[in-house]
Amino acid sequence: MNTAEILELKKILSKPKKVIIVPHKNPDGDAMGSTLSLCHYLKKLGHSATVITPNNYPEFLKWIPGTKDVLIHEENTTATEALISQADLIFTLDFNAIHRCGAMATPIENASAIKVMIDHHQMPEQYATYVYSDVSMCSTSQMVYHFIEMMGDLKLIDRAIGEGIYTGIMTDTASFRFPLTTSTTHRVIAHLIDLGVEKSHIHNAVYDTNSFGRLKLMGCALNNLKYLEEFHTTYISLTNKELDAHDFQKGDTEGLVNYGLSLKGARFAVIFIEHKEESIIKVSFRSKGDFDVNTFARTYFNGGGHKNAAGGRSKLNLEDTIAKFISILSEYKSELNS
Ligand code: 5GP
Ligand code: MN
Repeated sequence: MNTAEILELKKILSKPKKVIIVPHKNPDGDAMGSTLSLCHYLKKLGHSATVITPNNYPEFLKWIPGTKDVLIHEENTTATEALISQADLIFTLDFNAIHRCGAMATPIENASAIKVMIDHHQMPEQYATYVYSDVSMCSTSQMVYHFIEMMGDLKLIDRAIGEGIYTGIMTDTASFRFPLTTSTTHRVIAHLIDLGVEKSHIHNAVYDTNSFGRLKLMGCALNNLKYLEEFHTTYISLTNKELDAHDFQKGDTEGLVNYGLSLKGARFAVIFIEHKEESIIKVSFRSKGDFDVNTFARTYFNGGGHKNAAGGRSKLNLEDTIAKFISILSEYKSELNS
């Protein structure tokens, strides 16, 4: 987003507006942190702002300030679609392909509102008038901080805004360790801590609220771990039956794929999760170094994301999806061994 565009947005936002803020479907820590922080900021500017999520999101994110005012499209379709059609502005955060907000895609496309995208994924689609896209950013939440900074409103960032931004940065960087965590990221975090954001409280709220079922599901996932040594690749699978047996709740499989990547020598880690309701296999990809999982997910699994973290889906059954995956891997043998 250039200075001229920021000035235009500042002008648009100089009068009270009706604003809707939307994260991707199955929102994660970055999606919820960034949308709720932007919402607080816009409310502080005097706008009427509402976060509408496509569907429900994990319990471990439901403490972020502003959560109680979030509307869920899937659970409140008529009312949320009325808000979307009446909005002056729609901000879409933490995604850049409109299909990623599920059933909200059509109402958003049909809305007359000015659309603003803030996102850090590769290859943005062109559905927004104002696009702030930066693939060098570790998280959309850090971009919300920089957006507020570009608007000249850094002094408006308070603890409530800071808690959402902290949560998004923390979850998308796996606690400040992924490669896109920069010195700027740490300076942003330092500022948030100076504003009173309590880091230990946030780490506990997000990571130390495991249910007994989730811990047992982790055991099941690790038990299913396979290592394809010749490809430096690990994969985990979880069937619908296994999810049911461990009282699966939204968010329980979050981060499991990273265990596969922690194996000494692993460069590529994948998890296949059976989603009975949607009749698909949800696939998550993680890599270390140069192996580009965004391209891999885009080419073979109808997905995308970042170079080292991406997602996708398959309409084949679990067994056939894994067989397809293994057969594709042979093409990448030299790349995964280089
Ligand atoms: P996850 O594996 O945690 O679902 O997603 C990893 C990363 O890839 C996240 O940044 C997520 O937003 C992105 N991602 C997941 N699924 C898709 C998809 O189907 N399309 C695109 N473009 N990105 C995805
Ligand atoms: Mn993100």
